[in-house]
Formats: sequence, C-alpha cells, structure tokens
Amino acid sequence: EQAPVITIDGPSGAGKGTICQLLAGRLGWHLLDSGAIYRVLALAALHHDVELENEDALALLAAHLDVQFNPSEDGVRVVLEGEDVSSDIRSQDCANAASKVAALPRVREALLRRQRGFRQSPGLIADGRDMGTVVFPQAEAKIFLTASAEERAERRFAQLKEKGYDVSIDRLLVEIRERDDRDANRKVAPLKPAADALEVDTTGMAIDQVLDTVLSHVVKSL
Ligand code: C5P
Repeated sequence: EQAPVITIDGPSGAGKGTICQLLAGRLGWHLLDSGAIYRVLALAALHHDVELENEDALALLAAHLDVQFNPSEDGVRVVLEGEDVSSDIRSQDCANAASKVAALPRVREALLRRQRGFRQSPGLIADGRDMGTVVFPQAEAKIFLTASAEERAERRFAQLKEKGYDVSIDRLLVEIRERDDRDANRKVAPLKPAADALEVDTTGMAIDQVLDTVLSHVVKSL
C-alpha cells in the first residue's frame, strides 16, 4: 500500500508554503515543494544558457536535473549541481522564469516521476498548482487555497522585505496577476481546483485559522 498524500494547490501567495510546512511538521510527513523544482529548473536553464522557450533542451535538462532537497536547521536547503541555491530561487525573476518553463508540456512530463518519488511513508504533503489534478489525482485529501490578488501581493511584499529584497508592491501585484494568468490559462495542467478539493479563500484569515480549517478537513478525509 502506498503512503497517503495531502495536496495543497493554489496561486502564489495564498499561504500554501507556510501551511504545508506547518502541516508536515505536525504530522511528521514529507514535504514536496513542487514550485521549487520549477524554480531550480529555470535557474539551471540560466546557468546553462538554455533559452526559456527551448522545449527540447529544457525537457532534457528537466530529466537530468541534479537537485537535492536537504532538511537543515533553518528549513530545507535546495542544492543545484552541488551549489546551495535556496535564496537564489526565491527571487521574483526566478519565479517569472519558472512559470515560463512550467508552461511547456514536455517539461512537466519530465518532472512527473521525480515529483511522485516524494510519496514516501509515513505520508506526503504536496504543495503546488496541479498536485491534486495531475500529479496525485488519488490523494486522500485535496485543498485549494486562494486569496485576493491584493492580499497575496501584500503577503509576498512582507515576505520578500523580511528577506532583505527591495521590491515595489505595485510591481508585485502586476507580476502576481501575470503569473496567475499564465498559470491558469496554459494548455497543460492549468491552475484550477480538483473537482474533489476543499476550496478555502484565506483573504482576511490568520494563519492559525487556515491551519485549523485545513486540519479538520484532513482529519475527516484520512
Ligand atoms: O509555487 P511557486 O511560486 O514557487 O512556483 C513557481 C512557478 O512554478 C509557478 O508560478 C508556476 O508557474 C510553476 N508551478 C507549476 N506547477 C506546480 C508548481 C509550480 O506550474 N506544481
């Protein structure tokens, strides 16, 4: 029997990352940050001078991507070809590049097996856009987190500022809308709730409230 999976999908800034980390900590389960894989791929493309539209080259790069996720005291360290890129992949440029490579069908295909490999005992929390629809359609519990674009821009702003990035909130809002648009309108694995997902609009909700809502759904579903 395979280990259970809980999928948490939604647009950027909806609070998925925080909720998934808290949930994984509470349950003692593994965590898949699928967005980080697309971000690392975008960075690898940059390093290897591969154009973000070159589907052949990107699919090849995706299939052979040398990336490791190493748990450490201050969260998971992301290592690309031996180099710690944990903070590099969080830049806004990398996010935008990630959403471009993520729109290519053969890139997504090449990353499927790698993502499914994270499903290990005692269980997995999977964070992304298509975890419940494509990667783990048989998941035990599915959640779709949203929030208004304005609130998501504000949350990202606070997050990036804390990390020392100097960004404009208006620019962030524009980029969030562009990225939402690209993620929701692409042909493969577009951002949308699975038919059997619980949708939670987190606008105006505190983290604790969101976690409680998610936990009670999970408890009912397992
Ligand atoms: O979640 P995060 O902001 O790190 O994801 C970066 C980009 O990777 C997203 O904008 C999206 O285009 C892409 N992505 C995806 N499918 C996933 C996770 C992320 O297409 N499961």
